Amino acid sequence: MKPLEERIAKQVKSIPRSGIRDFFELVQGRDDVISLGVGEPDFCAPWHIREAAIFSLEQGHTSYTSNLGLLSLRECISKYVTKQFDVTYDPKTEILVTVGVSEALDLVCRALLNPGDEVIYHEPCYVSYNPSIALAYGVAVPVQTKVEDNFVLKAEDVAAKITDKTRILMLNFPTNPTGAVEPVEELEKIAKLVIENDLLVVSDEIYSELLYNGDGGFERGEHVSIASLPGMKERTILLHGFSKAFAMTGFRLGYSCAPHVLTEAMMKIHQYSMLCAPIMSQNAAIEALKHGEEEMEKMRRAYARRRNLVLKRFEEMGVPCFAPGGAFYMFPDIRKFGLSSSEFALRLLEEENVAVVPGNAFGEAGEGCVRACYATSYEKLEVALDRIASFVSRL
Ligand code: PLP
Repeated sequence: MKPLEERIAKQVKSIPRSGIRDFFELVQGRDDVISLGVGEPDFCAPWHIREAAIFSLEQGHTSYTSNLGLLSLRECISKYVTKQFDVTYDPKTEILVTVGVSEALDLVCRALLNPGDEVIYHEPCYVSYNPSIALAYGVAVPVQTKVEDNFVLKAEDVAAKITDKTRILMLNFPTNPTGAVEPVEELEKIAKLVIENDLLVVSDEIYSELLYNGDGGFERGEHVSIASLPGMKERTILLHGFSKAFAMTGFRLGYSCAPHVLTEAMMKIHQYSMLCAPIMSQNAAIEALKHGEEEMEKMRRAYARRRNLVLKRFEEMGVPCFAPGGAFYMFPDIRKFGLSSSEFALRLLEEENVAVVPGNAFGEAGEGCVRACYATSYEKLEVALDRIASFVSRL
């Protein structure tokens, strides 16, 4: 019999396992470890949202929905997106409800790429971008962003990577893993470049509510989506979901907003591979969009307080740390300790029982930094930071 190894598709063989998951297998079963690892809210989804899911089941809603998702949900999404991003989509033809932003990312790559088409994206970045592009036979073209530039994506660096094969520019602001928020002036330059080169943009805005731009890092600043800039709606696929700001990771719900022709192409794949997103999650999402603002703001303020604590403590330890404008991640620069980011993370885990993710899990540009997720309780963060301080004092 031909070895099973040889039966795996080339495309699948070519992609690595997620560096985050690999690292966290080391953490499994170790009780005293404080994990600042996985990028997931420590909050449970607010009760009124859970109750809506329960009520959905209680009423006997256990069926499939329309492939696009419940129209009533798409109508709520349309209203919410208009308010949040200042751009309006037709709920009947331009919105597709997906199983998380993860599914939407996969759909967008498969719907829009032909073999050899290039996709430019900024690194360090979310671990799925490169594999999603590769699995759709595209070519991933990373642009490095640097801690020295506060991880701003510079239009001139994007321009340098554009070739006649470039089809898509993938953006994620606020960024996982750095928390960077793109300055509007730079976003405008990027939009100009996209129009001049007739590209499409995939904009993953999953952290767009979790902003700390305002006063003292406490107030929610303004989020500007590239989709809202002149001439951009028609060439942008805006991705958003419920996992982060509503603390609904396990509900597995996201959506894409895009011109009808692109939505239809994505829907065709979704129809055959997923059919629809779970109905109880969709009903819970309606509740989240209608009445979730207050609880969301409470969680955001809790993250803001933790962010300020972590920033202050890293500063006191003499570990340079970029002040993130959004998401719930810190990306401190550990180069001065002379360890690679993997060595730093492994030793911190072994010596102090604190788990952070090595920066190179997010692409080469992340080397020299580690990602610490502060979506964990203030009290646990204080202990973790004491342990990190003790670790770095020995380096
Ligand atoms: N996009 C980014 C930037 C993320 O950080 C994540 C999850 O960590 C996702 C997408 C996936 O989110 P979802 O739970 O909606 O699939």
